[in-house]
This record gives sequence, C-alpha cells and structure tokens, in this order.
Amino acid sequence: MSARPIDLRSDTVTRPSPGMRKAMAEAEVGDDVLDFDPTTRKLEERVAALLGKEAAYFFPSGTQANETAIRLLTRPGTELLVEENAHLIHYELAGVAELSRVQIRPIPTPDGVLTAELARKAVRHPSSIAPKPSAITLENTHSLAGGKVVPVAAWDGVVALAAELKLPIHLDGSRLWHASAFLKTPLDRLARGATTVMVTLSKGLGCPVGSVLAFPAAARADVWEIRKRLGGGMRQSGILAAAGLYALDHNVERVAEDHATAKRLVNALAGHKGVKAVPTETNIVMLDLLNERDTTDNVIPKLAAKGVLCVAMGLKRLRAVTHLDVSPEDADKAARTIAEVLT
Ligand SMILES: *Cc1c(COP(=O)(O)O)cnc(C)c1O
Repeated sequence: MSARPIDLRSDTVTRPSPGMRKAMAEAEVGDDVLDFDPTTRKLEERVAALLGKEAAYFFPSGTQANETAIRLLTRPGTELLVEENAHLIHYELAGVAELSRVQIRPIPTPDGVLTAELARKAVRHPSSIAPKPSAITLENTHSLAGGKVVPVAAWDGVVALAAELKLPIHLDGSRLWHASAFLKTPLDRLARGATTVMVTLSKGLGCPVGSVLAFPAAARADVWEIRKRLGGGMRQSGILAAAGLYALDHNVERVAEDHATAKRLVNALAGHKGVKAVPTETNIVMLDLLNERDTTDNVIPKLAAKGVLCVAMGLKRLRAVTHLDVSPEDADKAARTIAEVLT
C-alpha cells in the first residue's frame, strides 16, 4: 500500500494547496460580526455577482446556508417541496423540521431531476385542511443521483411553475460549479429565477471550509440574523474567505478535469463482472456490487487495505468521488484495485 491512499470518499477531503495556504496566510482581515471583514466581503460580492444575485453571505457550511435559506423562505406550518433524494432530506438531520418547523413534501423522480410536471403533481388541491406550500428547492448537481446535472429546460420549467404558484425557489447548488462546467453554461444562468442559491467552496473547489448563500438585497438583515442565531457569525473569516477567492481564480475551470477522471474510472471498469460503474455526468461515480458475496461492509476494508477509500451508499453500492487530489493515474490505479478486489 502506498503512503497516501487514493481518497475517493468525497470531494470534501481535499487539502488546501500551498498557493491557497499562502493566500489564506496573507489575507487582510477584520471582525465580520462587529462590522465587516474586507476579504469576506470581497468573496461575498464576487459570488453574488457570479450567481446573478444582489447579495451573499459566507457560511461555515452548506448545511447551515441551506437551513438559513429555508428559514428565510418558509413559514412554520407550511410545506417545502423537495425532490425525494435531496441532501436537505437525507443529510441535514431533519433540520428543516427542527429549525423551520416546516413539513417536507418529498417528490419522487426517476433520476433526481425535479421537473415542473413532477412538481405539479405534488401541489395539493387547495383545501382548508391541507398544508400550504411555501417554497420549492432543487439540487444541482444532485448528489445522491450520482452528480446528475439539472438540464436548463427542466430548471426553467420549475421556475415558471414556481412563478405561477408564487413560490420562492431555493437552489442547493453545492456543486453548481460542476453543473456549469458540464453544461458549459454560466452559473448565473443556472441560478436564474431562484430567490436563494447556495454554493460550496469546501468540495470540488478545494477550500478547507465554507459555503456561500446568495439572496436578494432586501433579505440581508434577515439572513444575517438567522445565520447569527445558528452560530454562523465568524470573526476574522477573511482567512477562510481568502481560500474561496483563491479557488475562484484557480479551481473553478478545472472541475471539468474531475469529470474526465470520473469517466476514466467508469470506462476502466466497463464490462467487469463484479461491479457496475454507473456512468456519470460529473464527478460522482456509483459502483454497484454485483457478486452475491460482496457487500459494502466487507468490500470497503479490503479496498482500504489496498489504498483505495470509498464510502457505502447502502449494502450493495459504493461511491467514488473525483476531485483536485485525484489524478488520472490515481483513477487508473483505483480501477485496477477495485477490479481486483471485486473479481
Ligand atoms: C455537501 C452538500 C451540502 C452541505 O454541505 P456541508 O458543507 O457539508 O454542510 C448541501 N447540499 C448538497 C447537495 C451537498 O452535496
């Protein structure tokens, strides 16, 4: 086993590069809770512009940014329309129920892509005893659907439906960078029509910490208040924001390389009898275990012993994510190891 394992568990495992660390060390800072931190403000303005929104705030995590957006857009005792395999449902510890006192209306889709047609089916006939919807959320790319990209037409359809129903949209764009690279379409186009948008810096962009939530200028005071109440007020946050600014300059375009590396992994495993690598549009590869004897419980330690780290997505499915710290050669090596273990 080599000294450094090939870590395909998530794109969150990236370590800041020397250039990024230098930018962080040299960041100009202030107290962002007391008045402002200049580097954080720069990052927020830059991300707001990229997303075509009026304002943005830096958050310690995507989860906190998502939960803040839901709190902002909904009223207690209403329903949030969400695709059934969304991060908001599966990986935020029922935060929507706890923090916003909102019920989730999960909408089934075949592939993670919420369309207007599917969303419309979930809209209840108005009645004095039925919950009222207060917002719609979409996820792009869709994590549990294997990094699936929401096509622009599907997005526009939901935006039109939301306008018709007078509902705001929150876009969970944790990996919107990847959708933008895949579609060769600017971020602001993919966020057009959303009231709030969250993007993550600590995944494919290689930052140690942080996400950004963009929103209308009129919501500034409310977002500030919710974030502070959730414990998201950060002081000399410019040290972290500097990593974000560095990533915007150096690591956005290159996510397309991660997509190519993911494809390379899928192709290298094509036709293998023990595993089906599900083709992906972006950087998340699902690996279905085909041999009866193989389960993620027994396969993961075997792979780890040979220097390849994956996570379980159930008993018969592994996930492998490509990122800044996975080279094409790493993907080849990982594929050989996976093929060997799953023979
Ligand atoms: C990772 C992720 C989040 C949450 O981000 P954290 O920074 O880990 O809290 C939200 N939504 C999606 C789709 C994600 O993949």
